[in-house]
Amino acid sequence: MSIYRASGNRKDTRKEEGGRAPAGGKKGDSSAAGGPAEYETQAKQKIEVCPTFESMHLKDDLLRGIYGFGFEKPSAIQQRAILPIIKGHDTIAQAQSGTGKTATFSIGALQSVDPSIKSPQVLILSPTRELAQQIQKVLMALGGFMSVQVHSFIGQKTIAEDLRRLEAGVHIVSGTPGRVIDLISRKALQTRHIKMMILDEADEMLGMGFQQQINDVYRYLPPATQIVLVSATLTQDVVTMTDKFMTDPVKILLKRDELTLEGIKQFFVSVEKEEWKFGTLCDIYDSLTITQAVIFCNTKTKVDALTEKMREANFTVASMHGNMEQKEREEILKSFRSGENRVLITTDILARGIDVQQVSLVINYDLPNDRENYIHRIGRSGRFGRKGVAINFVKSSDIRILRDIEQFYSTQIDEMPMNFADSIN
Ligand code: ADP
Ligand code: MG
Repeated sequence: MSIYRASGNRKDTRKEEGGRAPAGGKKGDSSAAGGPAEYETQAKQKIEVCPTFESMHLKDDLLRGIYGFGFEKPSAIQQRAILPIIKGHDTIAQAQSGTGKTATFSIGALQSVDPSIKSPQVLILSPTRELAQQIQKVLMALGGFMSVQVHSFIGQKTIAEDLRRLEAGVHIVSGTPGRVIDLISRKALQTRHIKMMILDEADEMLGMGFQQQINDVYRYLPPATQIVLVSATLTQDVVTMTDKFMTDPVKILLKRDELTLEGIKQFFVSVEKEEWKFGTLCDIYDSLTITQAVIFCNTKTKVDALTEKMREANFTVASMHGNMEQKEREEILKSFRSGENRVLITTDILARGIDVQQVSLVINYDLPNDRENYIHRIGRSGRFGRKGVAINFVKSSDIRILRDIEQFYSTQIDEMPMNFADSIN
């Protein structure tokens, strides 16, 4: 538990919770993190680098799980962020997509859990059901030699099963906020022993869509609960706002020109108008199936319409979005993960976190509505140092948006060459 933490402080902070001011608003009495000056100082703080998993002094059975999972050497973020988490510091960990953030907080969580206490000790929240399930699987694999019970608690699953699992004893909870609050308020999910809350895709979790729910969960946690925030995209607004609920956090941050990955080549195709997109997609379909591809549209209706049109033209595609039944969502993702489906048309529901190593091509059939999701979408390819290609379909009216993205991340988005598929191999 954090040596910096004064629980009195924490309670004061908590009172402000309901009316948490927007970024840049009233500061808490801890002067830990504040305006831009402080942010810079924190960013320059010295962070210890652990070159190997051994040097992190992990439990033997955890170390076995890590090697058993096939990891040999920790990635840059794992070298820097696992230790502060284990030491009990509040931690903000930013690293590019596909660089191993899940294992970073999972190893931190597994090391911190006491298996002899049969009650939830770590709470991991993420924005989509698929992500919560994926995180649970990583935890179970890494913790495979430990007697640690991990369960995912997500919407549309029967609550009876959740209750049964909690009764039997769950150490680590991976869930979506709605279901987790439901279980907490039923007193089925006991928060008494929770010592760590992790928010994956933290900027999304603290944004408009989830902020209230996160506040609701936070209120139930013991005052000394350690907070860990993780994402590829963390705006300064998000970091500034963390002084409301974090104490002297260790901050591992990136500048926005460090966010794009060398291994992911970015291209655009000028389609002039909407009607031309379909033909363009058909023209490059063969390249999509070289490995696997994800095609992003901005709405569910568009996903359905495009899927239907592709099928009518005899192209094999799968599709997924949030209006589908959970069972169907799971089946589609499962067959995509197995490689049975090679081309998946979807919405931003799959923009964040989902890890399918064989994806080497991402198509923005529509440009994303925000800059953050651009990074997340293209990051579905090029996982853990693999090569990837992102292709943006750009209408004349979209060129401005594309140039904005290019400038914002100081990156280069060239016109798609004929041989673009060579960049994957
Ligand atoms: P992020 O959350 O940073 O986007 P993930 O945690 O999903 O990335 O990891 C991306 C991929 O990298 C996963 O397939 C994971 O198994 C793999 N990976 C993570 N850490 C290591 C490691 N140390 N060695 C080898 N592969 C790793
Ligand atoms: Mg992730």
